[in-house]
Amino acid sequence: MDIHKVHCDCGSVELTAKGKPKVHAYCHCEDCRELLQVPFHSVLAWDPEKVEVTKGREDLVAFQHPHKRMQRIFCQHCGDVLYNTNAMGWKLISQLMFRKCNENTLPQAFQSNAHFFYDRRLIDIDDQLPKR
Ligand SMILES: [Zn+2]
Ligand SMILES: [Zn+2]
Repeated sequence: MDIHKVHCDCGSVELTAKGKPKVHAYCHCEDCRELLQVPFHSVLAWDPEKVEVTKGREDLVAFQHPHKRMQRIFCQHCGDVLYNTNAMGWKLISQLMFRKCNENTLPQAFQSNAHFFYDRRLIDIDDQLPKR
């Protein structure tokens, strides 16, 4: 089984993800934007049991959104967001996090294959991926 490790900017926290993400796409919904302060989210979604904290569990802070079933999980030292969760309880790791920790590359199975909630977008994207 594939093992993938990522860490926060300061190195205090490490995550290990097993297998392949169930969703690999760009999400343009308001929830992602509001939680993460990004124009769209480059999502890698995993079943929760596939992602483990393998270092620095005590350094993680979970921010529960005041009225949405979402959390932002970040390092208390550097503030880097390791992942967020959605209403389904999935763990969503940014593709940027994987790139940063893997010499700026993404495995083929991690690359976005669609845009979700494109009708809610802030900015237009000019690429060939399906837009839903
Ligand atoms: Zn950190
Ligand atoms: Zn979203």
